[in-house]
Amino acid sequence: MTRDDKLDQRPWLDPEAAPYIKIQGITKRFGDFTAVDNVDMDIYKGELFCWLGGSGCGKSTLLRMLAGFETPSSGKMFIDGVEINDIPAYERPVNMMFQSYALFPHMTVEKNIAYGLLRDGVEKSEIRKRVDEIIEMVELGQFNKRKPHQLSGGQRQRVALARALVKQPKVLLLDEPLGALDKRLREQTQYELMNIQEQLGVTFIVVTHDQEEAMTLSTRIAVMEKGKFIQTGTPTEIYETPDSRFIANFIGSANIFQGHVIENDKDHVLVKSRRDGSLFYIDHGLDIQENAKIWVAVRPEKIKISKTKPSQAGPNQLVGKVHDIGYLGKLSNYKVKLNNGKIVEITYPNQVRSTSGEHAVDWDDQVYLTWEPSSAVVLRH
Ligand code: ATP
Repeated sequence: MTRDDKLDQRPWLDPEAAPYIKIQGITKRFGDFTAVDNVDMDIYKGELFCWLGGSGCGKSTLLRMLAGFETPSSGKMFIDGVEINDIPAYERPVNMMFQSYALFPHMTVEKNIAYGLLRDGVEKSEIRKRVDEIIEMVELGQFNKRKPHQLSGGQRQRVALARALVKQPKVLLLDEPLGALDKRLREQTQYELMNIQEQLGVTFIVVTHDQEEAMTLSTRIAVMEKGKFIQTGTPTEIYETPDSRFIANFIGSANIFQGHVIENDKDHVLVKSRRDGSLFYIDHGLDIQENAKIWVAVRPEKIKISKTKPSQAGPNQLVGKVHDIGYLGKLSNYKVKLNNGKIVEITYPNQVRSTSGEHAVDWDDQVYLTWEPSSAVVLRH
């Protein structure tokens, strides 16, 4: 279950709901290079929104513009209905947590957390109360007298988070917040981050290049490439209905077949493969012309693999030879080479314990691949 499945409300579907953060036509140029290209984005209160993209796509630059560390070349940004373009960074209702955490090495955990409030001139008793509350929330109580070098990576990450949250920002911006943690700790910390965000109801924007992290954390994801958002949606929408080959491959993996539409009805589309004439049946109609060149994507986990030939010939059937098997513990990955040379990937859960290393399907076996009409996605570009 992803995060969006748990949300009772999806304000982005409500035409009456006002966005909390509004980014309108924002562009950032460095000389003649455009790092962020005319971006529009609406984010609603309480969302944990991930901007996901490869290195250099412009996601940090956009985040830094919201924080006030970078000035847009054009466009406007609003938080809670107020335009923030001319508001200096320190007066914006946002706080930023950096990847490096930027903790003060000579200060204890509690002094690091209290520093921002002290600098803002908040009363001593109020500082004590807020620091204690936040230390309890991020479970750092037993470490509050330690200095950063006496903490693990995960604990340092929590200090940085506490320091950002103690100022009670309306919006918290996090740039690769879990980047410095190893895989196990990253997974554990993802859940802590989600819990804290849910408890406080603060709107989070997370920048990450890690698609699994984005899938786990987000209420919604926007995928960025070359300074533009190319698809925005809930994790389920992005995974199940990618709208381009780039997204299908960037979020998870996909087997992609090129073909053209030979039938387009209200309730189905039939696509013929360009390479070998195989047929793909998809269980919904499309607003597309017959003969249009398109691609069909089928996720590796949606394909069934069997040594038994299907009783009837039909669409959504391929035949090939097992070329490679990768045993990953909870899953096995099969690579099947079709007669036309194309390799198709299939992922299969290992539900039955196998100690002998034997697989029901083995190297060089002839196998039949099938999938449900609802499992394939048509991509137009
Ligand atoms: P990464 O995950 O590697 O940090 P990113 O998507 O966050 O990547 P940005 O830091 O936003 O990428 O940078 C986007 C592009 O803008 C990059 O090509 C970068 O080299 C360029 N860029 C960023 N800051 C500046 C700057 N101050 N001057 C010139 N070019 C810059």
